[in-house]
Amino acid sequence: MSKKENDDTSRSEFGFATRAVREGHLRTPEGEHSEPIFLTSSYVFSSAAEAAARFSGEQPGNIYSRFTNPTVRTFEQRLASLEGAECCVATASGMSAITATILGLLQTGDHLVSSRSIFGTTTVLLNNIVAKLGIETTFVELSDLSAWEKAIKPETKLLFLETPSNPLTELVDISALAEIAHKHGCLLAVDNCFCTPALQQPLALGADIVIHSATKYIDGQGRCVGGAVCGTKDVVGEGVYGFLRTAGPTMSAFNAWVFLKGLETLELRMKAHSAIALELAQWLEQQPEVEKVYYPGLTSHPQHELAKKQQSDFGGLLSFELKGGKQEGWQLIDATRLLSITANLGDAKSTITHPATTTHGRLSPEQRAEAGISDGLIRIAVGLENIEDIKADLLRGMRQV
Ligand SMILES: *Cc1c(COP(=O)(O)O)cnc(C)c1O
Repeated sequence: MSKKENDDTSRSEFGFATRAVREGHLRTPEGEHSEPIFLTSSYVFSSAAEAAARFSGEQPGNIYSRFTNPTVRTFEQRLASLEGAECCVATASGMSAITATILGLLQTGDHLVSSRSIFGTTTVLLNNIVAKLGIETTFVELSDLSAWEKAIKPETKLLFLETPSNPLTELVDISALAEIAHKHGCLLAVDNCFCTPALQQPLALGADIVIHSATKYIDGQGRCVGGAVCGTKDVVGEGVYGFLRTAGPTMSAFNAWVFLKGLETLELRMKAHSAIALELAQWLEQQPEVEKVYYPGLTSHPQHELAKKQQSDFGGLLSFELKGGKQEGWQLIDATRLLSITANLGDAKSTITHPATTTHGRLSPEQRAEAGISDGLIRIAVGLENIEDIKADLLRGMRQV
């Protein structure tokens, strides 16, 4: 089936939770209740004529799992429905979702504007790989709308960002930026990894493309690597799907199954992550060892009102500055016994990271200072453990400091 025939199982009249559980599954004659995993690389045709009709695109249907697989399609339809998109294309990773978006839609000589506060590997992709193809990027301050507008040139085709940012949880007004993008004939792409459609739906706010690393909250339990791009049939169904079909960074059927089962509990998990993170952020603000806490759910967050307007909750990611520097930061991290020392996020297990020496370690001290990443900064991706156990784990570390 081509991307265009994707709506035959649409349950768009239902609420978010219902669609998250039921959208996209076309039950086979076996009558299975849970979605099947189609582990097959190719499909059989009833005749040479049918094979020819499938290949020419005359007849919809499966051909080869690089670009047509029923399990992957179920995941795509379910996520498209949750993001309010016409179309979704699943990819092998979050990075390949970003790559497919840029290479599927832009060409040599085009220009893009990106937030400076994006996933580190995305910065490397834009500077080292996309730039090599003659597609140049200008980086701007995420929340500074006039900087975005000033950076737009006649060749600009795409604006790219993450909101809230990682690790400092800075936001941008998606509606206001969408207006700027459209005034200049540009597409706005939002990497919605941290909020997921359970908390924020950028397309409804005017964005054109939503990108995901499904590896994070969509999986939710740290098992598989995957990604997705959501948008219109014209943009995503043609340009991005066309790139994926030929270049081949395809999601596997097994991973698609894990992710589509993840979507069934996404809203519940995001609400739980958010509730624990808010309580932890408020508690951290009261600790004498802590200088400052970054979390959009705090009334002390400078963009708390914007977060309330464009998100339905505040997510599981927070960071805080310890009084002191690298030594105190490392001491705190090393004293924890429950939290996992890893840079991953979106897992049921809480993780703790020292950004200055890990995710942002390749930046110069000046670049780090400019990005607001101090040596005492700690990032926590709050999991689903008991809040009292997380607090006790951190307290042990802080009292040592
Ligand atoms: C992890 C991440 C990516 C990259 O995704 P992979 O699945 O690791 O390729 C992209 N954007 C954000 C915001 C991420 O956190």
